[in-house]
Amino acid sequence: MRRPVVHPYESVGLDRAPDLRRDAGRLVALAADPASRWLGLRELAIPVVACRDGLGLALGPRPAEAGEPEVFLGLAGGIPVFAVPVNATPPGVRHLPLREVAVRLTATELGLCACARALLHWHATHRHCGRCGTLTRVEEGGHLRRCPACGLEIHPRTDPAVIVLVHDGGDRCLLGRAPHFPPGLYSTLAGFVEPGESPEAAVAREVREEVGIAVDPPLYVSAQPWPFPRSLMLGFLARARDRTLVVDRGELVDARWFTRAELADPRHRPVRLPRRDSIARYLIECWLAGAVPVAGSGSESRASR
Ligand SMILES: [Zn+2]
Repeated sequence: MRRPVVHPYESVGLDRAPDLRRDAGRLVALAADPASRWLGLRELAIPVVACRDGLGLALGPRPAEAGEPEVFLGLAGGIPVFAVPVNATPPGVRHLPLREVAVRLTATELGLCACARALLHWHATHRHCGRCGTLTRVEEGGHLRRCPACGLEIHPRTDPAVIVLVHDGGDRCLLGRAPHFPPGLYSTLAGFVEPGESPEAAVAREVREEVGIAVDPPLYVSAQPWPFPRSLMLGFLARARDRTLVVDRGELVDARWFTRAELADPRHRPVRLPRRDSIARYLIECWLAGAVPVAGSGSESRASR
């Protein structure tokens, strides 16, 4: 089955090698191997170096000032890659926020960085056992933390969230503005999936809560790992049953219907759209083009319009 699209921040060409994670002796040898590559993140910022094409990922030997934990990301092109927190930036290297380097790295590099950022953030925020409070131990190459007192196993977290472009079945789509957005930016609606809830039910609930309208059963498009800090964005399109909005001002500053003509030309758009590294922008562009990739088929069908 072919995937319709690979979004930024998704791992590309990374063999996660779960068998190696569980082989502690082998991991020690790989970590000591000078051929292994290391990614030293400073406060979750990405190490980059200037190169002919602009910026390149600073994947190098084990950093001298490496902190804990050492996380085995997997094999990239057969080469073991580790990520580790650092508290200094070596000469010639710069540490930049992941979203700032997103459009300047290759898909493979960006996928490695996203994986490293998500795992190191998880370690930094899950040091203690949630049941008894004891300091936990790192196992399986940084993919598991275990409580030595009560035995609780803690796995890296990924929180499912739905993100939906609501349209009217015709020429209009609905975009909203959250209080924390940069000036002028409007985007798709989004929210976390709650316990016991299907993604489709979460779409219907979020749309009803945020703008007060009902939608038809939503169409799943594709998903994007979103390591800010640990979401999996499940992207949908949904047709509204009603155009009259009742905006929840606690969630959104504004929400409006926009026509294709208003959004199509970037020079005359009345608002800013989300950045191209996001599935929000992808959903909007799909709708603008009247094309929606069909999950799994690798082909495209016309969106309802
Ligand atoms: Zn415990």
